[in-house]
Amino acid sequence: MIKYNCHTHSNFCDGIDTIEDMIKAAINCDMKAIGISSHGPLPFETEWNMKKERLEEYLNTVNELKKEYSKDIDVLVGLEIDYLPEYGLDYVGDELLNKLDYYIGSVHYLGEFEDGYKWCVDETAEVIKRGIKENFGGDVQKTLKHYYSSIADLAVKYEPPVIGHLDLIKKNNKNNCLFNENEDWYKAIIEDCLNTIKTTKSIIEINTGGKARGYTEEFYPSNWILQKIKDKQIPITINSDAHFTKGINYEFKEVYELIKEIGFSSYSFLTSEGWKQKEVI
Ligand SMILES: [Zn+2]
Ligand SMILES: [Zn+2]
Repeated sequence: MIKYNCHTHSNFCDGIDTIEDMIKAAINCDMKAIGISSHGPLPFETEWNMKKERLEEYLNTVNELKKEYSKDIDVLVGLEIDYLPEYGLDYVGDELLNKLDYYIGSVHYLGEFEDGYKWCVDETAEVIKRGIKENFGGDVQKTLKHYYSSIADLAVKYEPPVIGHLDLIKKNNKNNCLFNENEDWYKAIIEDCLNTIKTTKSIIEINTGGKARGYTEEFYPSNWILQKIKDKQIPITINSDAHFTKGINYEFKEVYELIKEIGFSSYSFLTSEGWKQKEVI
């Protein structure tokens, strides 16, 4: 079964529990490796990203716990880093990246309202609708093209070890209130994005967090996208994006059955010795 997870949050960002609690929860589930990936600091303040002043404390805390629990589990120090519309990842800097075992590159931010508020794809449907109206002239297709071209850009320019929650934008799309992912134009956008990711070394995560919190019926990305990922032989890894101890390995058993059914022959996982692959049997 899947005993690895490199996408977890803690009370250093918008998670509930401490890093140590997350590690203990992983040990209780018999996990072999756990990656700590709080939302990294941004050039502006938000409710969910770590404050810049806490970064050093964060790195020290994870590194100390890594030593303390080394007999029980591999603890990896990471961050979930935001690709920003104007900066890409250029605001982060190599000095910080060099201190990490890995990072997850994610697109959350899509634009800015007139009052300067920077909005994310995973806020409420109302915020997203306002963003589509104010920043994309009310054009949903244009918005989605922008979202997925940002992910493609993230992959090509920076090759993050992991690309986070590929179709996060469906989080607030209950009853297709924003778009219909069965339509051809959407499928074409996904096809383009995957073809670009395929040219890079980045791994796409299967993220169970949206389903765990009741936002989506399928994981990120949707099953039909996973089928395409498999057909294109893009590597995958499995993560929970847990914001509290309880969701640490949410539906990992189901994910395993799913990737087997789709026909993946292996999945990637991160340990203290780097990335490895496990056969799906
Ligand atoms: Zn995220
Ligand atoms: Zn996350």
